[in-house]
Amino acid sequence: MLNIGCHLSSSKGFLNMGKEALKINANTFQFFTRNPRGSKAKDIDEKDVQALLQLMSENNFSKILAHAPYTLNPASADEKVREFALMTMEDDLKRMEYIPNNLYNFHPGSHVGQGVEKGIELISNTLNTILKESQTTTVLLETMAGKGTEIGRSFEEIKAIIDNVNLSDKLGVCLDTCHIYDAGYDIVNNLDGVIEEFDNIIGIDRLKAIHLNDSKNPFESHKDRHEKIGEGYIGLDAITRIINHPKLRNIPFFLETPNELSGYKQEIELLKNKYID
Ligand code: FE
Ligand code: FE
Ligand code: ZN
Repeated sequence: MLNIGCHLSSSKGFLNMGKEALKINANTFQFFTRNPRGSKAKDIDEKDVQALLQLMSENNFSKILAHAPYTLNPASADEKVREFALMTMEDDLKRMEYIPNNLYNFHPGSHVGQGVEKGIELISNTLNTILKESQTTTVLLETMAGKGTEIGRSFEEIKAIIDNVNLSDKLGVCLDTCHIYDAGYDIVNNLDGVIEEFDNIIGIDRLKAIHLNDSKNPFESHKDRHEKIGEGYIGLDAITRIINHPKLRNIPFFLETPNELSGYKQEIELLKNKYID
């Protein structure tokens, strides 16, 4: 079965996200843990969370994916910016334990001129501070397009971060199809080769979620602009091969395409029709 969902607004609470997902025939979803600018998160409403967990188990949901504010930068040169990222992620992970055994994704960060090695060291330090032996959440590093000084533009950079983390069994990877295509991984003409490279460098078992997006820009553009499924440079044929790939087909897919709920519903229907059960 295709496990698929899309990004949903968390403003109406947990249960409502679950209901919205059901409405569009999704069996998972992604949400921001708080306002993308990283302000204070609302208090957890335990009844609301329990109601979502029940809906999820009744409807065979796969793991859901929380996304950290994308403005955080644990690789910043400014200690205050790093500290803010650390505090926010630490608080998010505490809150994630109300929805145990799910996924929390973050953008590794930008080294802002300090160099990749320094950036990797700072990101690993943050993870070494916030990861706890007792947590049930798997923290995912997102593959990035390589805009500016973004870290995570290559599988080697992601692997280097993981290698520097003590509790690395708490870590996984979220592969964003738009980002890796923009970063120069040719998933259109050589999907098998890219998956093999991922497996050789990081290990396919680390791959826990896929952001399924088309790209507004051509191969290796380092731009990071998502497009609707089938309307960008990746195209529907390549996306069909991605969702059916034997190494990928059981991983949950999350749409982050420029859509309202009705557009997401259509994309989910389209992809279910392209999925070979
Ligand atoms: Fe992201
Ligand atoms: Fe993404
Ligand atoms: Zn993106």
